[in-house]
Amino acid sequence: MIECSRTHSLSVVVHVIGSLMIDRVVRVRRLPVAGETVAAVSSAMYAGGKGANQAVAAARCGGRVRMLGRTGVEGLFIVDALRAAGVDVRAICTSDAVAGAAMVMVAEGGENAIVIAAESNTRIAMGAVEDFVAAAAATEILLLQNECALLRETMELAAARGLRVWLNAAPADASLRALPLQLLAGLIVNEAEAQALTDECDPRAALEVLAARVARGTVVVVTLGAHGSIAAQGDARFEHAGFVVAAVDTVGCGDAFIGALLVAMASGMGLAAALARGNAAGALAATVHGAIPSLPECRAIDVLAASAERTVLESLA
Ligand code: ADP
Repeated sequence: MIECSRTHSLSVVVHVIGSLMIDRVVRVRRLPVAGETVAAVSSAMYAGGKGANQAVAAARCGGRVRMLGRTGVEGLFIVDALRAAGVDVRAICTSDAVAGAAMVMVAEGGENAIVIAAESNTRIAMGAVEDFVAAAAATEILLLQNECALLRETMELAAARGLRVWLNAAPADASLRALPLQLLAGLIVNEAEAQALTDECDPRAALEVLAARVARGTVVVVTLGAHGSIAAQGDARFEHAGFVVAAVDTVGCGDAFIGALLVAMASGMGLAAALARGNAAGALAATVHGAIPSLPECRAIDVLAASAERTVLESLA
């Protein structure tokens, strides 16, 4: 088990360039179909965005996290949430642009549907990216997602500077196929994103296609919801069946998974153990409503990861 006290893992630095979103979450008995109106059971507003969520997730796992992003004035409470979680927010710009927002519907049982309006997140300037990357040391981790402008340019710049670039290729769209995936140190996708990137419905087949597209040694992870996750690194293949929990809301599960996996790997853990920690974090996030409120602390991950070790397969292909 990883020694996860803050003093130990604070040496792990994670840089994040990503989104800040106002999550407007409505709970519904079931998701509406096209053209249908349904009444919500409740409605709430949370700090969110994949970038912000993953920054908080890594910080709660004991990483030293700094973030670059852009929001509007109505999104300042997200910056406060990041600061409260210990994230270095000095590079985050605010503007008079409309703040990025996500409309999230969560059905009973945890199924969700999300619409994203990226808005301010599309206005990150290249100069800000250059300054942010210049302040990072070579070999440190830079974590990116697909909710902000300049993704390709950022990947190329950071990789050229020697940073280890991890991409959560989410949300998936056609632009991702043209990205230079061979520059990555790590690629993390869920099942839908894996399919969108590869046209393979079977996540194991998609994992093989993605593993063939990245550089040798690059980590590729496909998360499988309640069924855990699978991964490839070079010729090695890994699978962890996940943890059984009473899920109430799966928003933020992938973000919790990514923060925990990245801090574990940057702390020197192997991929099999890091997958277990990612799955434990994702499972814990499913037991709490909201995104940032659901991201678990390191000690809770320690307990779950140690309590039910379900690594079922670690093999060399
Ligand atoms: P995303 O949230 O990006 O769509 P997934 O749904 O694959 O990604 O969830 C990410 C991780 O969270 C999974 O790999 C798993 O470890 C955990 N997880 C998600 N949903 C559940 C669930 N219902 N029960 C237990 N673990 C879950």
